Amino acid sequence: MSGLLLSRDDGKRVGSEKQLAQMRANMVEYQLRRRGIKDERVLKAFLKVPRHKFVRPQDIWHAYEDYPLAIGYGQTISQPYMVAIMTELLELKGDERVLEIGTGSGYQAAILAELAKEVFTIERIPELARKAEAVLQELGYTNVKVIVGDGSKGLPEYAPYDAIIVTAAAPRPPQPLLEQLKERGRLVVPVGTRKLQDLLRITRIGNDFKTENFGPCLFVPLIGEAGWRGENELEGSEGYEV
Ligand code: SAH
Repeated sequence: MSGLLLSRDDGKRVGSEKQLAQMRANMVEYQLRRRGIKDERVLKAFLKVPRHKFVRPQDIWHAYEDYPLAIGYGQTISQPYMVAIMTELLELKGDERVLEIGTGSGYQAAILAELAKEVFTIERIPELARKAEAVLQELGYTNVKVIVGDGSKGLPEYAPYDAIIVTAAAPRPPQPLLEQLKERGRLVVPVGTRKLQDLLRITRIGNDFKTENFGPCLFVPLIGEAGWRGENELEGSEGYEV
């Protein structure tokens, strides 16, 4: 009989989880599939990962809506569609080693964990890193490693990577990240000013790099040695051209 006796609170919780799963399915259909996300593996990952576990308690019922949400410390969890586009651009098949810069809530890392073999994710704010790590652990992700530090320098210990994703805005493509790409490896990174960036995918071909531009976007700044130097620095992209 165990498992059949639900307290009233458990009953409420099961009901809520069902409602949230329905909202998640709607998000995948209306915000992702109908806007052009095609990779079935990506769509399946978004259907599976409970985004509401990665937002603040007061935002649970907004977790599947079409916008970014604050996660504390001046940072945000990106709009689902943006997470999906960036993920699709990485072209993951399942056997890759992936590096993420900007763990934030850990949501993007969970999506990557569904799609690749191993994920390393770096966050500069220790409190956010700890929180993300706890949620990822609770959800049973054993192929994600959360690291506290300046991700603009990459993570040479485990390089090279099949794919690198930067979920914060950079003034230029960080050189250490280019160097840590495998042959045919992809770096997806928003590059521009603090107020507006272009979403770039840079592919390593030998010692050359092919750059594709997927249009305007807006991210919180990448703060670090190969990003912006301080919270308030007003540096632009220094004539960076695509
Ligand atoms: N991918 C996240 C959203 C990230 S918001 C998610 O799914 O929720 C961008 C994050 O990048 C913030 O948490 C910010 O603290 C972090 N960040 C900014 N500069 C960084 C740096 N140099 N190294 C690591 N993390 C950085």
